[in-house]
Amino acid sequence: MQKTESPVETARRQFDRVISSLEFDPRTAERLRHPAHVHRVSIPVERDDGSVETFTGYRAQHNDACGPYKGGLRYHPEVNAEECIALSMWMAWKCAVMDVPFGGGKGGVAVDPRTLSDEEKTRLTRGFVSALGDTVGPTRDVVAPDIGTDDETMRLFAAAYGDPAVATGKPANAGGSLGREEAPGRSVALCTRYAYESTGNALDGATVAVQGFGSVGANAARLLDEWGASVVAVSDVDGALYDPDGLHISDIEAYGDEPGVVTGYDAPETFDNESLLSLDVDVLIPAAVGGVLTADTAPEVRASFVVEGANGPTTTAADAVFEERGITVVPDILANAGGVTVSYFEWLQNRNDERWSLERVREELDERTLRATRAVEEVAGKRGVSWREAAYEVALTRVADAVAVTSCRE
Ligand code: GLU
Repeated sequence: MQKTESPVETARRQFDRVISSLEFDPRTAERLRHPAHVHRVSIPVERDDGSVETFTGYRAQHNDACGPYKGGLRYHPEVNAEECIALSMWMAWKCAVMDVPFGGGKGGVAVDPRTLSDEEKTRLTRGFVSALGDTVGPTRDVVAPDIGTDDETMRLFAAAYGDPAVATGKPANAGGSLGREEAPGRSVALCTRYAYESTGNALDGATVAVQGFGSVGANAARLLDEWGASVVAVSDVDGALYDPDGLHISDIEAYGDEPGVVTGYDAPETFDNESLLSLDVDVLIPAAVGGVLTADTAPEVRASFVVEGANGPTTTAADAVFEERGITVVPDILANAGGVTVSYFEWLQNRNDERWSLERVREELDERTLRATRAVEEVAGKRGVSWREAAYEVALTRVADAVAVTSCRE
């Protein structure tokens, strides 16, 4: 086994590769290689037994030339400054590729949320808000759910801060947008259909394997199933279900806070989570954690399309393997960008005191996703580069233009 590349190494290598093939102002490139700020805060939390434990929280803010910093908050034991930096860079490119006027941000707390009671989690979120202070704000830095956080975390965050527009992904009855929860899975499904059909094949009957059955994986699987694809395998941390004739996706619940429920369903075959990656399917959707497609696992992939539901599932070495083998990778910054796109709609609704219908949210999301996907496909075709490089090119060109404008003001 080779040492797995860290997310920040993956993010910088992807960036450098695109920069070296574009005529890019070296001063702007240097500016965008580093985050503008990385905040590290201590959060003392009273445990239910009366003791106090101090957790470490982070917020990386990459660049705000396009608009306020924007991105999720992760509650996970492995959260650290470097990971937040990588994820904040990806958020910046993600917003830019979708033409959403936000910059990149990402943060979190190094904690296993399953070890906290609901009351302790509430105190942690309130403590995080107070430790971050004016670092965040509706026009400065807007947070959202990510691994280990959910709509309830966002409701609490916004309430503790005192303004709904400081957080997106809130419950619909607390200033949240309809369609926000399903949005990342919806854009994954839209990109899958577009990429698959662009090669002249019909999605109907195409076989799909989805790693991860949280919100992104479950919503993508359900939609693809609805659109006629045959979802033959899904998994969560405890294992995978496989039925070569297609699983009854609508019967399987997303795991939410309870990993392990997926393997509770009946299926002709079950195996471990990693074996799912090498199934003989048309489309593979990694929608769990980052770094799963590596120099070791990529050569085993048999799908012709990899659509990244997770952030950073493919290391640089795996990307090279896929390119050489002619496997199309629809990158995370495009495929799962439905989340931040509907976050933008939510932020607009909060600031303008509006309520959009679910139909309007879906329509505008679908339109933006297809526009961005077409733009990426066109650049990939014209320049003969991968979809990832093409998405970076579209994104970096937009960010560079915005940086040029803000530099004039400095
Ligand atoms: N955490 C999500 C992502 O990685 C959503 C970010 C947002 O809505 O701001 O894209």
